[in-house]
Amino acid sequence: MSGRILIVDDVASNRIVYRARLAAAFYEPLLAIDGASCLSLAVDAQPDLILLDLSLPDMSGHDVLRQLRQDPRTRDIPVIVLTAAQDCEVRLGAFSAGADDVIIKPASDQVLLARVRNLMRGRADAGMSRAPAFEAAGLAEAPARFEPCATVALVSGQADLARRLQQDLSGQLRDRLVVLSRAEVLAEATATRPGGEVPDVFLIHDEGFDPIASLRLLSELKSHLATRHSAVCVIGAAGDGDDAAMAFDLGADDVVGLQVSAVELALRTRSLLRRKREGDRRRARIEDGLRLAMVDPLTGLHNRRYALPHLAAIAARAAEAGRDYAVMVVDLDRFKAVNDKHGHAAGDAVLVEVAQRLQSNLRDEDLLARIGGEEFLVVLPDCSTTAARLVAERLCAALDERPIRLASGVSLKVTVSIGVAVSALSAGGVLSVEALVEQADLALLESKGAGRNQVTYRLSAA
Ligand code: GH3
Ligand code: MG
Ligand code: MG
Repeated sequence: MSGRILIVDDVASNRIVYRARLAAAFYEPLLAIDGASCLSLAVDAQPDLILLDLSLPDMSGHDVLRQLRQDPRTRDIPVIVLTAAQDCEVRLGAFSAGADDVIIKPASDQVLLARVRNLMRGRADAGMSRAPAFEAAGLAEAPARFEPCATVALVSGQADLARRLQQDLSGQLRDRLVVLSRAEVLAEATATRPGGEVPDVFLIHDEGFDPIASLRLLSELKSHLATRHSAVCVIGAAGDGDDAAMAFDLGADDVVGLQVSAVELALRTRSLLRRKREGDRRRARIEDGLRLAMVDPLTGLHNRRYALPHLAAIAARAAEAGRDYAVMVVDLDRFKAVNDKHGHAAGDAVLVEVAQRLQSNLRDEDLLARIGGEEFLVVLPDCSTTAARLVAERLCAALDERPIRLASGVSLKVTVSIGVAVSALSAGGVLSVEALVEQADLALLESKGAGRNQVTYRLSAA
């Protein structure tokens, strides 16, 4: 795994040691000697992770953390705090200031690298190894001011232990705390029916004598679709020891010792929740991006980018099955005049209505896409010449027979011209998809030339 890690420490020998350890694990180390240079490097170099020593010459590590968390350009970069202080307060303070993890120095290589891998993996899963341009430009959405109540599941082989944990945490977290048995957790993980309320965080207590059962449960949670994005923290004998590395490698998001205090566990849970929500947001944004790449935002129809490969797939299937299919190009008549006379917003409303009328006159399996400003592509799979003719005339009539009423109350007579090309095997040949669209385009020109509001046909003959 590679990634850029910013090491912030004012002691030169520490920087050298960490740099060597990380470089040996194929990370790219960057170095900062104080808080100010950490803050500016974090913005400029967009590291994938920051290792932050708390005692810095120019400002406190807590202040550095707070500033990192306030700046949208650095808000999501994971931070591991390194501290020599055994003092619990220091650790808690670091979590409150926004640390994702706290490691007590000196840390073994195994522990350090396991925790680094864990945080890097979280970012890779959510598709965010580098801040996208819009975030760098400060355009990222503001973090939600109000986070909804989360569900935290407390899991143990001993129900009384889980209930005690529930009691201890109830004063610290305002989230819903539910006690689940291992069997219930497994049922949750393997549920095929989505939509059930999956806990955001699982806290698995291994009771100190059955670590294997906990690890097994952990890997089940991380391998099933329903629960793989939930955060999992293992509370176990392995704790901060080197065995924790195994839990991290199985997908744990955090591993803590059995002695962990309720306050620290609550803070760690909050940090897990923050990371989980950030991952959820990223994934949603990627899905949105994929959808936007294929959908025309005005009409909700597919766009050209989606339509052309889809058309090629329809053509390939038609050739395989020896069936005919039809391609139509539909263009609004004298649409420029609508914009000129009624304004662009009215023009947009007309486009939306035209899209709806076309859609409601097509079958589910037909493809309708907006491929230009006021131009639509229709593909009818499995469609004979006669059927294509009927459909094209129906589409033309769907606009001609009834004016479009705008929100202003004005009624507009809008018509379309259509060019149709049918890939008819019976006609003696199959044209390439491009050639067929070209034929439809030529037919459309003929419709326009012949006075608009009509349909012209081309039969493919190679
Ligand atoms: P023709 O009958 O020959 O097709 O005439 P036309 O006016 O429809 O064709 P022309 O190509 O001259 O003009 C198309 C117009 O479509 C020009 C442009 O302003 C308008 N247009 C393209 N996209 C949009 C859009 O998204 N919204 C609005 N409101 N208008 C658009
Ligand atoms: Mg037009
Ligand atoms: Mg046009």
